[in-house]
Amino acid sequence: MDLIDLRSDTLTRLQPKDLLNINYDYISDDCYDEDRYVKMLEFKIADLFGKESALFMPSGTMSNQIGLNVLSNPGDELITEAGYHVCFFESSQTSALSGLVINNVRSKHGILTTEDVLNAINNKARWSDLYATPKIISIESSINTYGGLVFPLDEICHLKMLCNKKNMHLFLDGARVLNACIAIGISPDKYTEHVDILNICLSKGIGAPFGSLLVGRKTDIDKAKKVRKWYGGALHQSGLMAAIALNKLKDYSARLENDNMNAQYLGAICSQYCQLTHPVETNIVMIKSRNADNLVRKLKTYGVLATAWTSNTVRFVTSSNINKEMLTRLKSIFEKIHKYKEFI
Ligand SMILES: *Cc1c(COP(=O)(O)O)cnc(C)c1O
Repeated sequence: MDLIDLRSDTLTRLQPKDLLNINYDYISDDCYDEDRYVKMLEFKIADLFGKESALFMPSGTMSNQIGLNVLSNPGDELITEAGYHVCFFESSQTSALSGLVINNVRSKHGILTTEDVLNAINNKARWSDLYATPKIISIESSINTYGGLVFPLDEICHLKMLCNKKNMHLFLDGARVLNACIAIGISPDKYTEHVDILNICLSKGIGAPFGSLLVGRKTDIDKAKKVRKWYGGALHQSGLMAAIALNKLKDYSARLENDNMNAQYLGAICSQYCQLTHPVETNIVMIKSRNADNLVRKLKTYGVLATAWTSNTVRFVTSSNINKEMLTRLKSIFEKIHKYKEFI
């Protein structure tokens, strides 16, 4: 029986068609600015988000870290939500690589609001610019730790107005931003219009084997190119990866829509047996469990793979690995195990 792999959308598999129609003459050294596929990909992504420029990065973490770096100076303050990736996973990198002070907030429902940010600003000494200067507001969409919630567009607008007032920048960790745009039926350029700089991952639901892009103003992206070199992220013949990503981007919206729909179906199944931590909005379903490790181990014996996100939450992510028939099979597994108190 096939495994039902719901651990992550980074585990998607390449298909033979993803490697078709690649012109090897286009692939050259991107450090000489001579790789045509990398340039085409950067142009396509900048255009998709209505920004001036984009830069191909090896990973989302590097893209985030370089984005935050170009917007700040050491000792500046970053205001974000405690569950967002730049804090939840990257707090050490953010402080060690850019010398940023993270002022993190626990928001009420997972969405960082202007009120949260104002509290974070007002609860520290701001007597003069001799003290930490709040420089970046960092948001995420969809929000991984909060069950894949879409960061609401009106809140993005409010945060940008606050940034303008406080002389701050708005950064979006948009690893799964296209899942979010599809969920609310908005074009990527409209959704990110008020964001100064964003990261998007190709290695998540898009299904590319590799890569992320940092997208924003030309002046910021030019700076980012230098920092990428320093971090060792300037790659030579990355055009092969860019070419595969361009193939994957051709039909991304139908695939991500399908992933989002499968997550709705999975959410409806799960909610018959347990509690969801958040309503399902994109391709993530997060459930509460008495013992996440036990539940994940039990599911594995039935060939279902999931992630114990915290000790009492389990994360499922839909992707092109998953179809509806598999989720129906998962329903029958839940039916068997839900009565055991040690799991759910
Ligand atoms: C996956 C992810 C990242 C990091 O991407 P990597 O390519 O794994 O480094 C950053 N932010 C969010 C929200 C993510 O989901």
